[in-house]
Amino acid sequence: MKTMTCKQLYGPCDALIHGETPEEMMENSKKHAMEMIAKGDELHIDAMNTIIRNGENGFLFNNEEEYIKIIKLLKKDKKLRESISNLALKEAYKRYQINKIAKEYLKIYKKLLFVPKQP
Ligand SMILES: [Zn+2]
Repeated sequence: MKTMTCKQLYGPCDALIHGETPEEMMENSKKHAMEMIAKGDELHIDAMNTIIRNGENGFLFNNEEEYIKIIKLLKKDKKLRESISNLALKEAYKRYQINKIAKEYLKIYKKLLFVPKQP
């Protein structure tokens, strides 16, 4: 069993995340973030808000009713749908370029596997 903090996995807090494999660790990190957001934790909500700008490149919602409103709005408004889609795609390309994200994932995997640093 390996343990890392939420911060070591690019989250905002010091909660401990456990897992047997890197995949399980990433999955548990994702679960932790979703649970904290569901509880209304400000640190995790702020971290999410830096990625999703509500109404601009995505939508944030608190319950099923709000989610349904957003879906109906997107169904009616083609311009909004296209704009949200384009901006979300731009954000994804900016944040998750394969060469950038691959290095970050490699760092995490090495920490999890306790691989010594290369010169
Ligand atoms: Zn956390």
